[in-house]
Amino acid sequence: SLILAIETSCDETSVAVIRDGREILSNIVASQIKSHMRFGGVVPEVASRHHVEQITQVIDMALGESGYGVADMDAIAVTQGPGLVGALLVGVTAGKSLAMVYNKPLLAVNHLAGHIYASQLVKPLKFPLMALIVSGGHTELVYMKEEFSFEIIGETQDDAVGEAYDKVGRILDLPYPAGKYLDELAGKGNSEAYAIPRAMIHEDNFDFSFSGMKSAVMNTVHNAKQRGDEIVPEDLAASFQAAAVEVLVEKASKALHEHPEVCQFILAGGVAANSGLRGELSTRLATEFPNVELIIPPLKLCGDNAAMIGASAHHMYADKDFSELDINAIPGLMLGE
Ligand code: ATP
Ligand code: MG
Ligand code: FE
Repeated sequence: SLILAIETSCDETSVAVIRDGREILSNIVASQIKSHMRFGGVVPEVASRHHVEQITQVIDMALGESGYGVADMDAIAVTQGPGLVGALLVGVTAGKSLAMVYNKPLLAVNHLAGHIYASQLVKPLKFPLMALIVSGGHTELVYMKEEFSFEIIGETQDDAVGEAYDKVGRILDLPYPAGKYLDELAGKGNSEAYAIPRAMIHEDNFDFSFSGMKSAVMNTVHNAKQRGDEIVPEDLAASFQAAAVEVLVEKASKALHEHPEVCQFILAGGVAANSGLRGELSTRLATEFPNVELIIPPLKLCGDNAAMIGASAHHMYADKDFSELDINAIPGLMLGE
């Protein structure tokens, strides 16, 4: 199949052309980060306005780079949710318009399914598989018995791990979104310098909690200030990252022990770009589960992009899982809905 995919769930306007769910003919990502940076976070109204301003041009760029026109497409795919409603609406409206004008089937894709299927752009997926979604809004362990069957076996009880990274980054005065900068800082620090709790690590479930780690960082900075001490940002970043990564890797391992039938493990979402997590997860799985194939997408496919939406949409196209042209954005859409 040849699919034009549109992603506007948050702060990147992205359009891709994907062949057979595996081959990227184009994947344009127009980031709005610079506009949101001065506010220290994504401002929904600003995001919607940028999507409106960018979408037509990004569609043209993606088509141009692919060498195809809309008329050549087999289907139009668009992220329906989860995300910011005003941001999603821009993509959904663009997708519906193209589907109507060119008389193409419309595929409404779940953004988190997209994050998982980003790995399909690296290697064919094999089932059953386990996916760890680590992003700005989600932290979930997902068991997939087969294509498009999503069972959430564990999730965060409070903050998502990306959210915790961004909040800790703000405490350390790093630019938004802080994940990348905190990761770089952590690489230069001593991870044993500060005590950060490994929340829920020994609990007999696959759930997570990251707000306590963020509070521990805040308290460390606060206490140091009161005593008139200097904190070492590199060490604090390294200590936080070690705690977050240890819990994620531990729960991933626990999930694989519980599901010995799993043949692939997929790391998905923006935080999959984290060097500490990529390294620790690779080492742990290689020693403990040598028969489980680990897929970690390249950095460009970890963050939000339309290629992953097209990868996911290919399967829906094969299943004729088409949507009506009156669909709406669903900001709270859950996996498997
Ligand atoms: P969701 O996918 O849950 O709807 P989102 O789309 O906003 O949320 P993503 O774009 O998938 O989230 O991921 C963005 C998050 O990834 C941000 O919180 C960012 O700080 C974090 N991030 C990016 N790179 C790194 C890194 N190297 N280390 C840690 N976090 C990172
Ligand atoms: Mg983003
Ligand atoms: Fe995302």
